[in-house]
Amino acid sequence: MQDNLVINPPEPVLVPVIGGGLFPVRRVYCVGRNYAAHAIEMGGDERDAPFFFQKPATAIVLNGSEIPYPVITNDYQHEIELVLAIGRGGDNIQTEQAGEHVFGMAVGLDMTRRDRQAEAKKAGRPWEIAKAFDLSAPISEITPLNEALPTSGHISLHVNDELKQQADLTDMVWNCTEVVATLSTHYRLEPGDLIYTGTPAGVGPVEVGDRLVGSVEGLHDLHIQIVDPAV
Ligand code: MN
Repeated sequence: MQDNLVINPPEPVLVPVIGGGLFPVRRVYCVGRNYAAHAIEMGGDERDAPFFFQKPATAIVLNGSEIPYPVITNDYQHEIELVLAIGRGGDNIQTEQAGEHVFGMAVGLDMTRRDRQAEAKKAGRPWEIAKAFDLSAPISEITPLNEALPTSGHISLHVNDELKQQADLTDMVWNCTEVVATLSTHYRLEPGDLIYTGTPAGVGPVEVGDRLVGSVEGLHDLHIQIVDPAV
């Protein structure tokens, strides 16, 4: 550590990789409304293009964790998502090259303070308070990408063994290559960036004690439990 730092630097955020090693997180990008059925359930129009927002790296929560029910919400909701982990930087990436920039994939949850989001939308304010808070981005271990980015595969979320969300990656409005290519026209992607690629329909509230299990075909399941913040 440099000896002229006036405070201790933040700890790096590290996600375990299947087969060994740790992936250091730089930025966390998310895609909004990337499944038409979810866009409709959120009151949107299925013809509207998806869009991006960000969460801080401190949003990351590792697999198997307990998450205290967050402050300033009474409507804390799950959104199951496929996550892409960027291993090689670039801007204006072509869809044909997108896979070369992806190190691996994981199962993620874009946890949302839905009541705060509804207020922000109504007031024409940013979504930040609803989306970009600590511990709002659980993630499984990262599975290195061996082949091309997937264009199909089952994605699902169970809460207390009850199926709440399910779809197929073929339902994505922007597929994985289009997500990488489009995002790279907005921001230069760098190694360490994560991209949560959007949630299917069926989002809903979770309560203290709930056990969440997220799955994407071919990846390790994500297990999270919501706990009482006072305990
Ligand atoms: Mn989402």
